[in-house]
Amino acid sequence: MARRPILLVVVIGWPALAGCRPEERPLPVRPPAGGSAWEEQMDARRRMVETQIVTRGVRDPRVIAAMERVPRHRFVPPGIQHEAHDDHPLPIGQGQTISQPYIVAAMTEALGVGSGARVLEVGTGSGYQAAVLAEVVGPEGQVFSIEILEPLSRQASQVLRDLGYAQVHLRVGDGWFGWPEAAPFQGILVTAAPREVPPALLDQLAVGGVLVAPIGEGVQDLVRIRRTDQGLEREVLMGVRFVPMTGGAR
Ligand code: SAH
Repeated sequence: MARRPILLVVVIGWPALAGCRPEERPLPVRPPAGGSAWEEQMDARRRMVETQIVTRGVRDPRVIAAMERVPRHRFVPPGIQHEAHDDHPLPIGQGQTISQPYIVAAMTEALGVGSGARVLEVGTGSGYQAAVLAEVVGPEGQVFSIEILEPLSRQASQVLRDLGYAQVHLRVGDGWFGWPEAAPFQGILVTAAPREVPPALLDQLAVGGVLVAPIGEGVQDLVRIRRTDQGLEREVLMGVRFVPMTGGAR
């Protein structure tokens, strides 16, 4: 896997800090007035990629193509689909959020996986990040994603199935323990913040594999860990804010 210089400098206070924090506002009950045409959604995604993602330094063409292709509005509750491409996280129910587009792109780029890879995500949420990973690994790859809240997993499963992402496999459970039967993974992406890196996830990382996870409390460190022949290499990419990882293990 080629090493690319990415994401090493991000100013604290950057909108990245709004990674996946639930916002203090209720879900709307009103459906949107009229549907948006396919072209309009496509244009909105192109603008999102240009103004929020490329300008902030994301360069990987696989990630850019994935962000342009995945219909983000489909992963957002009906009443707020008009905000789907805005530069912030959005509520998806159950007190959880779909992450800001830039954060999804930056974490996917940091993971650095390509076509045919086997990837684990912890924190399925809306399923959007799983769809972006599915685009990046392609039809030959596999995405395994774990969500602790059953209603979210169920909803994500339906959207992913409707969109034809057959290479995404979902499970309801505590992602702290990973998905041992599907390991080893070339990439592990964690989208809820544990206080420390879950040891089981490190065990399930292939040699040459990369784990990207927000670690800590409050403003968390987005950490990247690479397993090499010699052991684990760890670096901090930027400050982020994700919902805390819940579950029985902590
Ligand atoms: N990746 C999601 C956003 C994730 S928000 C998306 O693209 O929409 C974080 C998610 O992690 C929430 O849905 C939360 O319920 C889930 N979560 C928190 N702790 C977890 C755990 N221990 N195991 C699995 N999922 C967990």
